[in-house]
Amino acid sequence: MKARAETGYAAGTRSRASGRGRPATLIAVAATIAILCATVGAASAQEASKPSSSGGSTAASGGGSGAGGGSGSSAGSSGLRLKSERTSPRKVFFNGTRKATYRYSIAGRRPKDLKIQIVRRSSGRAVRTWRRDNVEPRTKHTIRWAGTNRQGGETSKGRYVFRVRKPGGGAAKPSRNKKGARSIRLLPHKFPLRGRHQYWDGFGAGRHHMGQDVGARCGSKVVAARSGKVQWRGYQAGGAGYYLVIDGKATGKDYVYMHLRRKNGPKKGTRVRTGQRIGRVGMTGNSTDCHLHFEIWSPPGWYDGGNAMRSVTRKLKRWDAWS
Ligand SMILES: [Zn+2]
Repeated sequence: MKARAETGYAAGTRSRASGRGRPATLIAVAATIAILCATVGAASAQEASKPSSSGGSTAASGGGSGAGGGSGSSAGSSGLRLKSERTSPRKVFFNGTRKATYRYSIAGRRPKDLKIQIVRRSSGRAVRTWRRDNVEPRTKHTIRWAGTNRQGGETSKGRYVFRVRKPGGGAAKPSRNKKGARSIRLLPHKFPLRGRHQYWDGFGAGRHHMGQDVGARCGSKVVAARSGKVQWRGYQAGGAGYYLVIDGKATGKDYVYMHLRRKNGPKKGTRVRTGQRIGRVGMTGNSTDCHLHFEIWSPPGWYDGGNAMRSVTRKLKRWDAWS
């Protein structure tokens, strides 16, 4: 069910035109989407009871044997107990529009000094630590995390959980609320289209096509697949139409969005978050039907020494499945 939505171009270098084909209509898409949406969530229930080894970070090493325990049976020695805790959302994107949010309160009567950590489940290693002194008991407090490590760089994809400790390392006894500290799934990219869509021409396509075409209704939201800085915002009548090039944060790669409906995307130099709306699907430039043409360029980037990446389709489908 491939369709050709362009007559062939590459920004700056027009390649041969082709008269073949006309885009297919949007059918059979709904079934695909239903399958994609069903994959999330199954793994999280078992995560809650999975023990993780302590160690790794120096911050976590002082707490003794109970350091990693999700069940809390051995955490009592710290004298610290959570009254409540809640983590949301369950899925966050690196530098995304929604940060992981942890709301907690501690039991007891007196304020305490605390250390809150975000811990990678598989290794028990803390990737970030927040110090909070004189934390009032029986009051809700909030920690937010954008998926970054101490240096602001990327933390690897996977499952993470918030932990509360005493500065010396002793882990807090969990709250009696069984929902407790649920894990968060951190994802590096988000699928750049919201709504129904289908895959049209991919890389090459017999016409030097440098990206993947994804058909969707004109006006569908286009979001940043990866946070970063807008490197170019332009218009190319015979090719890309309204387009955006975003220099992906901590990837060195450029992410390119073409045929956008209007000019009004974020300006050059603007920083955008993963999942932030950057435009809407259109058919500007060399385009015969509504679709997003998406490219990924290897470092150092778009027409700057990098290459358009053939893996764009595989990547998009992976992001599609988890977004
Ligand atoms: Zn295309």
